[in-house]
Amino acid sequence: MSPPPAPEAIPVGTVTLVGAGPGDPGLLTRAGAEAIARADAVVYDHLIQDRLLDLARPDADRIFAGKRRGKCPVPQPEINALLVRLAQQGKAVVRLKGGDPYVFGRGAEEAEALQAAGIPFRIIPGVTAGVGATSYAGIPVTHRDASSAVAFLTGHNEPGGPDDRIDWPAVSSFPGTIVFYMGFRHLSGICSMLVRQGKPPETPAALVCSGSTSSQHTVSGSLLDLPDRVRSAGDRVGSPALLVVGEVVDRRGPLSWFERLPLFGQSVLLTRPIGEADRSAADLEALGAEVLVAPTVRILPVDDPAPMDDAIARLDSFDWLVFTSGNGVRHFLDRLPALGLDLRALGRLKLAAIGPATAEALAGYRLRADLVPGSYRSEGLAEALRPLVSGRRVLLARADRGRPVLKDELERVAIVEQIPVYRNADADALPDTVLQRLDRGAIDWITLTSSAITERLHALLPPSARSRIASGSIRLASISPVTSDAARRLGWPIAAEAEEHSWPGLLRALRASSTTAAKKASTSG
Ligand code: SAH
Repeated sequence: MSPPPAPEAIPVGTVTLVGAGPGDPGLLTRAGAEAIARADAVVYDHLIQDRLLDLARPDADRIFAGKRRGKCPVPQPEINALLVRLAQQGKAVVRLKGGDPYVFGRGAEEAEALQAAGIPFRIIPGVTAGVGATSYAGIPVTHRDASSAVAFLTGHNEPGGPDDRIDWPAVSSFPGTIVFYMGFRHLSGICSMLVRQGKPPETPAALVCSGSTSSQHTVSGSLLDLPDRVRSAGDRVGSPALLVVGEVVDRRGPLSWFERLPLFGQSVLLTRPIGEADRSAADLEALGAEVLVAPTVRILPVDDPAPMDDAIARLDSFDWLVFTSGNGVRHFLDRLPALGLDLRALGRLKLAAIGPATAEALAGYRLRADLVPGSYRSEGLAEALRPLVSGRRVLLARADRGRPVLKDELERVAIVEQIPVYRNADADALPDTVLQRLDRGAIDWITLTSSAITERLHALLPPSARSRIASGSIRLASISPVTSDAARRLGWPIAAEAEEHSWPGLLRALRASSTTAAKKASTSG
C-alpha cells in the first residue's frame, strides 16, 4: 500500500458517508441533513430522492454514481477514486447512500479506500430498509410474542449457484425473522431453498416493494405460495424489494399505518418557492404523499432597497402597514436592523395581514395583526380595510409584482404608498427529474398557490405535460378562486379548490378529493 500523501502537499477535504434511509426523505437523520447542507459535493446513488439533494447548497456539485435504468452500475473502484479525488481537491464531500451505508451498501469498502488514501471520513448511519421499509409495511421485525431475533441477509446470488455463500441449513433453522435484501430476482429460489432445508412451507413470508415511498406495495403469503402471488401482482411489484420471512409477517394487517394515511400512494408536485416549499412538503408527507418540488418562482431581495429604506425612515408618517405575504413581512422587518432600527420603529402603526400565514409571520416577530380579513385575498383585504383607513395614510409592503387591485381599491378612500420589499424571479426551467416524471404521467397532483405560479408553470411545461393536465390525468389543487381562474384561462380544469384560501385549506381540499377518488377506485375495482 502506498503511503498517504504528505498533508501539506494537497488540501485535504473530508468525506462523510451518509445513510439516506429507505425512501421517505423524512427518515434522513439530522446529522445527515446538516452534512448535506455543508457539502461542496454530494455523490449519490440510484433511488436517492431529489428532496434530499435539494438540501445541498445550490452551488454544490451533485454527482450521480449509481445504476441508471437498464445500464451497468458505476464500478466500485471508480466511485472510491472519485471520492478520494474530490477530497484531495479540499472539498467537503457527502457520499449519500440508500438505507444505511454499512448494510449491504459497500460503505465499508469506500471507507477503507478513504483510510488508505489518508482522507478523514465520518459515517452517519441511516435507517436501513430492513427496519424502515418493513415498519412502513406494517411488519415489526421483532415482537415479544412472535420473534426475538432478526437476521439480515443478501439474496443477491442464486441459492445453490456458484457465488452462493449463504449457510442455508443455519439460516433455515434461525429462530426469528429473516430479511433478505436484493432478493427479488431469486425470490422463488430462496423460498424453495428454505423449505428444502427444513423451514415449514407455511411459514409466513412477504415481499415489501419500494417501502416508505408512494409506490409501496406488499404481497404476503407463505414460503410455499409467495412466489406465485408475487407473479400475479404484476406491475405493482419490483425492485427495490425485501423478502421478509417469519411469524411477524402475520402481524401486518392492523399495523399497516402508512398505507392508511389519507394521501398514501399520491405523488404531489409542489410549485411553491424554495423556502416555503419545505414546510409545505413536510405537511404533505405527514399525510402520506410523495412530494416533488419544482419551484416556479424564486423569492429574492429587491435589487434596490432605497424605496424600502426611504419608507422605513418615514414610518411614523403612516397609519397602517399592510402585508400581503409572509415573505413581505420577513423582508421588511429583517431590513430594520440593517438600518440601525428595531421593532420600535413601527411605533403606533396599525398592522394588517392578508391571511393567517401572513399573520403567523408577524407573530414570529412578536407582532399581532390588527386586521386579518375573513377572505384571504386582495379583494377581501381591501373591503375589510376600506372603512378603517378612510383619509389615512397606508403603506403597502409587497412583492415587486402582483395584482394592482389592493392599491387601486384603497386609493379610493386613503393615501396609499406601495413599495416592493422583495422580488419574485421566474425559474428558468423545472428540474429534470420532475420533467421526466411529468412526461411519464407519474404525478397525481400539482398544487397551485397563486395565479403567477400557475402562469409560470404553464410556460415551463412541455406540451405533453400541459395536455395531461388539460385532460385531467394530472390533477390540479388550487388555493383560491383567483388561482383557479388563472388555470381555467389556460384551459386547465381544477380538481380541488381550497374553501379557506390558505395552505391548510388546500391540504383539506386535497384530502377530501383523494378520499373520494380512493372510494371510487375501490368500488370500481
Ligand atoms: N444500504 C441499503 C441496502 C442496499 S442493497 C440499506 O441499508 O437499506 C439494496 C437493497 O435494499 C434492495 O435490493 C432492497 O432489497 C433493499 N431496499 C432498499 N430500499 C428499499 C425499499 N424502499 N423497500 C424495500 N427494499 C428496499
